[in-house]
Amino acid sequence: MQEGNTRDILWIKIEKALNTEGCPICSIIKTSTEHYLENLLYEYVLDVSLREKLHKSFGFCQRHAYLATKIRERLNDDGLKIAILYETITSDEIGRLKDLEKIFISERKKFPVKRSLKKGKFVENFKPRGECPACFQERMTESLYIDDFRARSNEKEFRELYGRDAVILCRGHFVMLLENCLRFNALDEFDFFLKMQIEKLEKILKALTSFIDKHDYRKRESINEFEARSWRFVVEYFSGKKDVKSRWDEV
Ligand SMILES: [Zn+2]
Ligand SMILES: [Zn+2]
Repeated sequence: MQEGNTRDILWIKIEKALNTEGCPICSIIKTSTEHYLENLLYEYVLDVSLREKLHKSFGFCQRHAYLATKIRERLNDDGLKIAILYETITSDEIGRLKDLEKIFISERKKFPVKRSLKKGKFVENFKPRGECPACFQERMTESLYIDDFRARSNEKEFRELYGRDAVILCRGHFVMLLENCLRFNALDEFDFFLKMQIEKLEKILKALTSFIDKHDYRKRESINEFEARSWRFVVEYFSGKKDVKSRWDEV
């Protein structure tokens, strides 16, 4: 695929996200992870490399496991795809438990019980050896689009949509974008995003304060739509969209 085409495809998704409320990066990640899981359940259940990855990560992480079960409903699947994905992982788990049982039986006869068992070395065998494939996918999408936001920020179409009141990057994605600008020495872009964020947050805070004030029974002014939604904006600003995890604040 030519570079121009890739850029256009990214723009289609960005344009859509900038027409939705809240953090556009969260929005893109949410849709693309859902598509990824949908495809995976639909077509790649028997894919060897995917199965190997799931084998190392012991299935999906908690967030993506439940997202996959939700998507299963959408696909009208009775659970067959998930059953296939988890079949070998489960039989391997039984193998691990039996190995542990063998060690335990032979060690408990000795006294004192072997230190390796006592110290819980076996725990290592139960720890994931790879990242959840949907998390990996999410991380790739996140960095691809953060790069693209920086690169596109001088374009008129981008600025117009990004300037909408309903659009505000969540805190995690905003900080990642600023870091990205600095890494690429994109100082004008850094300045643009920072200024916009201050402007946007100030507007939200004003609406939030006015929303609170108008709850005073002595005030008769009606609450406008933006004010009524202001608390949702701040929740999303600090926590991102539901089911989306920003990599930035991982400790
Ligand atoms: Zn976000
Ligand atoms: Zn995951």
